[in-house]
Amino acid sequence: MKLHEYQAKEVFARYGLPVQVGVVIERPEQVARLDLRYPVVVKAQVLVGGRGKAGGVKLAKTPAEAEAHSRAILGMEIKGERVARLLIAPAAEILAEYYLAFVTDRATRSAVAVASAAGGVDIETVAQTTPEKIATLKIDPFLGCPPFQARALGRRLGFTAPLLDEFAGIAGNLYRLYWSEDAELAEINPLAVVGAGLLCVDAKLVLDDNAAYRHPDRPASEELTPLEQEARSHGLAYVELDGDIAVIGNGAGLVMSTLDLLAHFGGRAANFLDIGGGATTEGMRKALDIVQRKPGIRAIFINIFGGITRCDDVARGIVQEPPRVPASIRLTGTNEEEGQRILRAAGFTAGLDADETAKAAVALARGGR
Ligand code: GDP
Ligand code: MN
Repeated sequence: MKLHEYQAKEVFARYGLPVQVGVVIERPEQVARLDLRYPVVVKAQVLVGGRGKAGGVKLAKTPAEAEAHSRAILGMEIKGERVARLLIAPAAEILAEYYLAFVTDRATRSAVAVASAAGGVDIETVAQTTPEKIATLKIDPFLGCPPFQARALGRRLGFTAPLLDEFAGIAGNLYRLYWSEDAELAEINPLAVVGAGLLCVDAKLVLDDNAAYRHPDRPASEELTPLEQEARSHGLAYVELDGDIAVIGNGAGLVMSTLDLLAHFGGRAANFLDIGGGATTEGMRKALDIVQRKPGIRAIFINIFGGITRCDDVARGIVQEPPRVPASIRLTGTNEEEGQRILRAAGFTAGLDADETAKAAVALARGGR
């Protein structure tokens, strides 16, 4: 899960990392009432990078200028994301821009510190065009990022005292944050040299969803739609797409191949929900409820292969929450005779073959039979 810059900076401040203290606003009129030292920087709060290049970061010398920028940036679309909030903070006078991040590196199975004196710009570009300008350091989880290693990294960027010690302090705190908050990425770009020392002008945090249970106080992810959030709160894996066929299956592999099958026969999934292994009647009922609440559904494709999941349990769930749009059902595996009997008794037909039922779902979405 990604955090907004203003959320990441709240976390940064808790770990003693130097950030500008700003205010979040949602309407341009709010600028006039802010008690801030000018000049200020007006920053779009969206979950994508490259806001500066897209015109989402602007400096303002006066409240009138800040309000004009706010009016221009609010509602703007940056890489497909609409700007609904702005962070307004006292502008820093930047002398140089560095880059520093801790990132989970699957290749080395460890955290890696990535640092560069060529900060401020897109680090992927630096990595491609001038890789020699990037210094990395593999972190030993038992050592963490102790001062001597952080200082060695800082020296590779050209830092000397007293900024070198400051850099080492920031690296140590950023690693502590990365580790304690279960982050996948904790990034400062730019880490700026200002008159008073170093300042985290931008902050990016990507948190590991698998560790969410260890952080119950975290804000809900804004990357999910309201329906996706509701499904997640019931322990159901639900994802929205942009077609017109709702998909329910059991098990991630079966669901993925179900999406492929639909695409193969010319259909487009509106969403998919994985009721998981050992699904219950209640799970199936809730699944049907959720997938059909997405607007624009023309057909449902239910693809169940009973293993630990029992077909009769699934069939009871379908009967209790009957589809409101035409449904194609494939039900096979454990207790399939009983499952099929329950469906027939309630007036549904279910197939045993995945290809046939997928083709039928595509035809139903097109309005055929
Ligand atoms: P990003 O483009 O989404 O990464 O947003 P950043 O927060 O990194 O801002 C982009 C660029 O705007 C930075 O690299 C800086 O050059 C500039 N910038 C951001 N904040 C300030 C500030 O307080 N003062 C000055 N002078 N420039 C800033
Ligand atoms: Mn940045």
